[in-house]
Amino acid sequence: MILGGPMSDVAVVPHVEVLRLGHRPLRDKRVTTHVALVARAFLASAIHIDNADPVLEGTIEKMSGSFGGGFEVHTGVKARKLLERWDGTIVHLTMYGRPLQDAITEIPKDEKLLVVVGSEKVPAEIYDLAHFNVGVTNQPHSEVSALALFLDRLFEGRELCARDMGGMMEVVPTARGKQVRNTGDVRSVPTNGPFSRKWPPVPDPRDCIELLAEVGCSRAVIEHCRAVHRMGMVMVKASMKADRFEPLGLDLPLIEAGLLLHDIGRSRTHSIRHVVQGTVIARRLSLDPRLVDMVHNHIGAGVPRHEAVALGLPDEDFLPRTLEEKLVCHSDNLVGSKGRHPLKRSVEKLVEKGALAAAERMVALHLELEERLGIDIDLLVPEGTERRTILP
Ligand code: SAM
Repeated sequence: MILGGPMSDVAVVPHVEVLRLGHRPLRDKRVTTHVALVARAFLASAIHIDNADPVLEGTIEKMSGSFGGGFEVHTGVKARKLLERWDGTIVHLTMYGRPLQDAITEIPKDEKLLVVVGSEKVPAEIYDLAHFNVGVTNQPHSEVSALALFLDRLFEGRELCARDMGGMMEVVPTARGKQVRNTGDVRSVPTNGPFSRKWPPVPDPRDCIELLAEVGCSRAVIEHCRAVHRMGMVMVKASMKADRFEPLGLDLPLIEAGLLLHDIGRSRTHSIRHVVQGTVIARRLSLDPRLVDMVHNHIGAGVPRHEAVALGLPDEDFLPRTLEEKLVCHSDNLVGSKGRHPLKRSVEKLVEKGALAAAERMVALHLELEERLGIDIDLLVPEGTERRTILP
């Protein structure tokens, strides 16, 4: 997506998801659809809706398919769980909150943001779970208007200049009448943004960081990618010391780029589908196909086709095949929000979720890498070896 306008030189584009509370499929069909459409058009990455509504999901997905934006809709979401596990800032829009114009200056733009809107009476606990309760005026109006105004202030008007959302259709702004262009036939040529620039097929680390920022990854995502990069390079260097590097003939620039770009899809969504979004982005940027595969195959120790659909992924394999891909994939398994951690933490998480096959795959990948790289990975990741640093 291309962002233009007065603030287009600002690299950090906030990552926003919306939580819609109290959706009643019959009564709120139209209003919730409008909340979702506002979220999508005003650059949020996803909407979570508490009550299941497959019809609404279909409507919004169809719209995203036509007009683009890589927007995700999840209905039947456990709202409390989402709020409690949210690893970013929570903003609740309510007429009783602090004035938007004051709160907006304090809301961090470089962390994931969950914006909560209600329908009828919002439970009191939401006010406590939110980091910010924000009023768009203190008059009662609507979740649709409140969300639109909040996002406009958050993005400082940049959403008004957004174009090239990657859809099949694009509206051509005209003074009168309607003009829609089929982008499959005639692509508009963007004049700025990541997709108009020619990137090397395997960008160097500096370019990778720039690219992540240009496609809209948050600071937190970029920091995570840097931590995964350090983790991977520690393994590579240990392998070199172990005299195993030369015979393995690892492609170092490719590994570095893969470690840094694996989460490029998190510029669009933080759900598991970030690998799908990332693959689309990497292809559109004409990156080296081996790099595209690294982005595609980096979750857990990979996901085989027969598990993919149940996880919300397309019906295909997401399995790392080359040693370079496996290294990228597993480095990510050893880095969490608080820095590096031992394998057991990631494995335990999978076991807790009942994903036993995935846990076994991860252990197998760990052992395979130890064997092939000639290193003891556990010695490289003692707990607390790395703390998160904030980008300059
Ligand atoms: N009494 C409700 C409240 O807590 O704001 C109003 C319900 S209103 C029909 C539905 C939703 O619209 C609210 O949950 C809130 O998210 C949003 N809303 C309405 N007026 C608002 C305002 N002035 N500022 C922020 N959000 C508002």
